[in-house]
Amino acid sequence: MTRPIRIRRIRVAGLLVVVAAIAAALGYQSLGASSSTAASPIDILRSAPPSHKSSRHSPGTASGRSEHSGALGEADGAVPDGTTVFDDEIPSIANLDPALLRALRRAAADAADYRVEFHVNSGWRSPEYEEQLLREAISKYGSEREAARWVATPSTSAHVSGDAVDIGPHDATAWLSEHGAEYGLCQIYGNEPWHYELRPDASDHGCPQMYADPTHDPRMQR
Ligand SMILES: [Zn+2]
Repeated sequence: MTRPIRIRRIRVAGLLVVVAAIAAALGYQSLGASSSTAASPIDILRSAPPSHKSSRHSPGTASGRSEHSGALGEADGAVPDGTTVFDDEIPSIANLDPALLRALRRAAADAADYRVEFHVNSGWRSPEYEEQLLREAISKYGSEREAARWVATPSTSAHVSGDAVDIGPHDATAWLSEHGAEYGLCQIYGNEPWHYELRPDASDHGCPQMYADPTHDPRMQR
């Protein structure tokens, strides 16, 4: 009678060790997040087991196969590794504002002359996906206040409206920080060197001054 219970307890204990290890790893990465070369929080969140592809055609059947809430797939804006601004068939790209996408493609084509390739780590996101990222950020950073420095809400996010992309790797964001304004592509937040939005006037007047982080952005106060 007691034996199965004990086995189950041991399993639970083992699971807790794994969870603690993951939490420690995430915590470690968040310590590095203040440096400009740090990986985007989205990159970290994206490193969760990708069950996207299998769930794409049957979102209702994504089971408890993984302990992660991986039920949201490409249709919600999840991005497969190696996605570029030219990948029309991926909703995260296809649902971007057409003017932003045109600017990104012009810039990416010119950057390619310098052997720099833009990868999109996140583009358009569904409200559900944004909500999931926000929940994950709150548990990662420990408070809504701190999470708000990195992830917006479904009603305020420029990703949900199709007006923002998170670009990588580092040589791509370095190229954009130097040349992006010529295409109207601007870094908006000082703490997110990967996050770009379209500011059409930038080609004439340069990019507007950055906000230190999204909590300083009036658009986030809605
Ligand atoms: Zn972003």
